[in-house]
Amino acid sequence: MAERVRVRFAPSPTGFLHIGGARTALYNWLFARQKGGAFILRIEDTDRSRSTEEAIQAIVSSMHWLGLEWDEGPETGGDFGPYRQTERLSLYEETAQRLLAQKKTYCCYCTPDELKSRRRVALKEGRTPGYDGRCRELTARERDEFEKEGRRPAIRFACPREGTTVANDLIKGETRFENRLIDDFILLRADGFPTYNFAVVVDDNAMRISHVIRGEDHLPNTPKQILLYQALGFPIPDFAHLPMILGPDRKPLSKRHGATSVEEYRRNGYLPEAILNYLALLGWSYDEKTTLFTGEELIEKFSLGNVSRSPAIWDPAKLEWMNGHYIRQIPLKELTLRIVPFLREAGLIKDFPDAEELSWLERVVVSIRDRMKVLGDVVTLTDFLFGEVKLDPQAVERVLKSDEALRVLALAEEKLASLPGFRKDGIERALRGMCEELSLKPAKALQPVRVAVTGKTVSPPLFESIELLGREQTLQRLKKARNLISDKIG
Ligand code: GLU
Repeated sequence: MAERVRVRFAPSPTGFLHIGGARTALYNWLFARQKGGAFILRIEDTDRSRSTEEAIQAIVSSMHWLGLEWDEGPETGGDFGPYRQTERLSLYEETAQRLLAQKKTYCCYCTPDELKSRRRVALKEGRTPGYDGRCRELTARERDEFEKEGRRPAIRFACPREGTTVANDLIKGETRFENRLIDDFILLRADGFPTYNFAVVVDDNAMRISHVIRGEDHLPNTPKQILLYQALGFPIPDFAHLPMILGPDRKPLSKRHGATSVEEYRRNGYLPEAILNYLALLGWSYDEKTTLFTGEELIEKFSLGNVSRSPAIWDPAKLEWMNGHYIRQIPLKELTLRIVPFLREAGLIKDFPDAEELSWLERVVVSIRDRMKVLGDVVTLTDFLFGEVKLDPQAVERVLKSDEALRVLALAEEKLASLPGFRKDGIERALRGMCEELSLKPAKALQPVRVAVTGKTVSPPLFESIELLGREQTLQRLKKARNLISDKIG
């Protein structure tokens, strides 16, 4: 093991930062922070057909949003850069040439079509479809002929045909792989681009990575990488493979299970604090009972030894609950500022609110804070406070279409019109008085008022909502509902 802990998160920029990637980044980050080590971000963009500049930006921005700051990598630089694999091509080329000179690799002239048809035949004959080693023993003459034909070779690793490669995984324990089952994989493609297994070893060594912490899907790659370390005479880092993340149906987490990118969660109003806390527990636990951890607590308590070997199950309800918890930890002023973008996005407000609007919005937030699970809930919970009310047709049908509702609304209007002030307590007294006068139970009698004012049968606390809406708007809505009923039942 190298002296200083140096870990990396090495995403392939083919899309947004996935939840699984974010968890890998988080565990690496926690480990580095706890050990006083370095956390490195490396962009593995050698798959040119799938890597995009937008994806790099999206990943970088999700990492910033989560607060997973890196010590070395894009934007920050560092002593072991560049941190994008496409900027390191000469290093892969040199390393491959060194292996070639030592006869640990060989040139392979097989074309993709040839490989494909041989694979088909192998499958048909019940043989394993890996590379058959055809170019491993080419004579100089055969090589010259291929060159003359204009073929450009790929460089393959000459895998040992026997023996066992052992990975001592810090999470999975000892894992053994038979070398004869590993085929001669490609290190450099004919176009000079390295494959993942090769680039990752060259870079992890050049960047002095001490621990490779990554998803379990890479466990089958580990023996290939260990063989490369050995062939190159590089020290082998420690490996830790994190358990898979499965959906509630125990299938690998995917779009089918809902949002899978950090960006989607951000847009839906999840807080980075909640996501980090939730992801930390997706495969790791401190004890059986503690679920809430601050970032500092996670740094202090995290350990690879407590990472589970069995798959983690994605539980959206738990994440939502946790998010609600963190929403209620945010000071009111800040929470109000954090919901403004959601109101704007939904078109409920246009410009950035001035001081007066902000203090009204703070009161709005107080009225819904306990019900919010995600910041975006502000839209559905409070849309009736902005502009015209939209009456839910079903609510109108069930609650408003009666003589009794008509009487309730008329008296409510009268009572609220004559209130001296327009505060929650006075509004409550007036409306409860109305129920008594009509000899109706509040639970029933207040429903027509709720539907008239908020448009729905379920709303934030009614008296507070009426205060927030203001007298003029409230009276207008009561009257409008009354006219509607008269039309319907009249
Ligand atoms: N680029 C690889 C991925 O995104 C990284 C694997 C590794 O950490 O070695 O899956």
